[in-house]
Amino acid sequence: MRRAIYPGSFDPVTFGHIDMIERSAKIVDELLVAVLNNSAKNPLFSVKERVSMLEEITSHLPNVKVTSFDGLLIDYANKVDASIIIRGLRAVTDFEYELQIAQTNRIVNPNVATLFLTTSLEYAYLSSTIVKEVASYGGDISHFVPERLIERIYAKYNKES
Ligand code: ADP
Repeated sequence: MRRAIYPGSFDPVTFGHIDMIERSAKIVDELLVAVLNNSAKNPLFSVKERVSMLEEITSHLPNVKVTSFDGLLIDYANKVDASIIIRGLRAVTDFEYELQIAQTNRIVNPNVATLFLTTSLEYAYLSSTIVKEVASYGGDISHFVPERLIERIYAKYNKES
C-alpha cells in the first residue's frame, strides 16, 4: 500500500492546500495530512483546531486521514510507515528551500521519496499568511478559504463576517 504524508502548518487551511489534498489523494492509496506542531511558529490556531478544520473539509475523501506530529518529519514518516512525502511548489521561491529539505530527508532515509506537485495556477498566489493578513483587517477571505471556516478565522481577530 502506498501511504503518503502531506505535512504543513495549515494555519489556516486554504483552497491551495485543499487542491493539493484532492490531487494527492488520487495518486496514493492513503494520504495522511499531518499538522506540524511547531511551537516556534506562534500559530493563530492550535493544533487541535487545525486538525478539526482539516477533518471537516476532507470528510468527503475516504482515503484521507488527518493527524499531527512534532519533531522531524522523516522520523514521523518512519513511524507511520509512509514512503512518500508530498509538498507543493507555488513559485521558484519555494524551490530552493524545498530541494534542500528533500535532499536532507533522502540522506536520512532513502526509502522515503519526496513528491512535488506544482500548484494549480488559480491558487499560485495563495498562502495562509495572506489569509491572516486580509482577515486581520476584516477583508473578504471568501476566495481563499471554505465558507464554513470564515467565521472561525475572523473570530481570532475579533472581526465579524
Ligand atoms: P509550511 O509552513 O510547512 O510551508 P504550509 O501550511 O504553508 O506549511 O504549506 C504546506 C504545504 O502546502 C507546502 O508544501 C506548501 O508549499 C503547500 N502549499 C501552500 N499553499 C499552497 C498553494 N496555494 N498551492 C499549492 N500548494 C500550496
